[in-house]
Amino acid sequence: MTAPVGDEGPVNGERPGNGERPGNGERLGNGTPLLEVRNLAVYHGQLRALDAISLQVFPGEVYAIIGANGAGKSTLLRTIAGLHQPTEGSVLLDGRDVTQLRPERRARQGIVMVPEGRRLFGSLSVEENLQVGAAYARPGGSWTIDAVYGMFDWMRERRSQRTAQLSGGEQQAVAIGRALVANPRVLLLDELSLGLAPVVVQRIYGMLPQILATGLTVLLVEQDVSQALRVATHIQCLLEGRTTLEGRPADVTAEQVEAAYFGLAGAASAGQAGEGMDSLWPG
Ligand code: ATP
Repeated sequence: MTAPVGDEGPVNGERPGNGERPGNGERLGNGTPLLEVRNLAVYHGQLRALDAISLQVFPGEVYAIIGANGAGKSTLLRTIAGLHQPTEGSVLLDGRDVTQLRPERRARQGIVMVPEGRRLFGSLSVEENLQVGAAYARPGGSWTIDAVYGMFDWMRERRSQRTAQLSGGEQQAVAIGRALVANPRVLLLDELSLGLAPVVVQRIYGMLPQILATGLTVLLVEQDVSQALRVATHIQCLLEGRTTLEGRPADVTAEQVEAAYFGLAGAASAGQAGEGMDSLWPG
């Protein structure tokens, strides 16, 4: 399914996975989406930051929102987390409308965000930051502070260190840990790569399979398109608050992504699916 998207919003019919991970077979797209956004409109003052945005994220997916600066990616994630209120449209978790719920209530139901720029409490220790996440934990999940230390082995030894003293990559790991201890069902990741060296970005994204193996679903925002295409089972491109492309990475061409990303009318000529992505956006 390759879907340059018009006013009608994204097509979310059959969604076979890329076959690389369990949970992304033919069944995806046939059941209830774990997370759904319907026809969302969000304003910042007079600015319409999101316009008629819809998406469906199925269990086990890594759904990537891509787009240039100011496309509306963070606004979308923050609206799903409950930090912005839409003027139109709705957010559903497991078929239940959560649009009116405050962020803490959404977190307790399983929508948890790692915000852009990490937003840690720099004067608090690693463990104290993790405790903040645990305070909003959804009951019944398997993530604990100990489980986070199990995933990031350096963290336990440095649990008393102030997070302001950590490197950017280490801070990002703590921010992810803080979200995980809240036991999310859907983990929202906003620009994990921001301000980090490529090798650190690789290491951070390298943790995704371990996180997914615990049953989580991921919706992420990335400006680094090649990074998003490497990890995503599904992508959606935003441009000036509207959806311009939606589909599986294997089904979209580099030309289509480029046209959708930059708004180059007529640049979406058909090519070999997936060909040349990395040469366009070196990771
Ligand atoms: P970036 O990668 O630069 O963060 P983005 O795709 O995440 O970009 P948003 O941050 O969602 O985009 O911003 C979408 C538009 O809304 C931009 O024009 C931005 O300037 C504007 N905007 C975002 N937040 C606010 C705000 N709190 N008040 C006013 N305008 C805002």
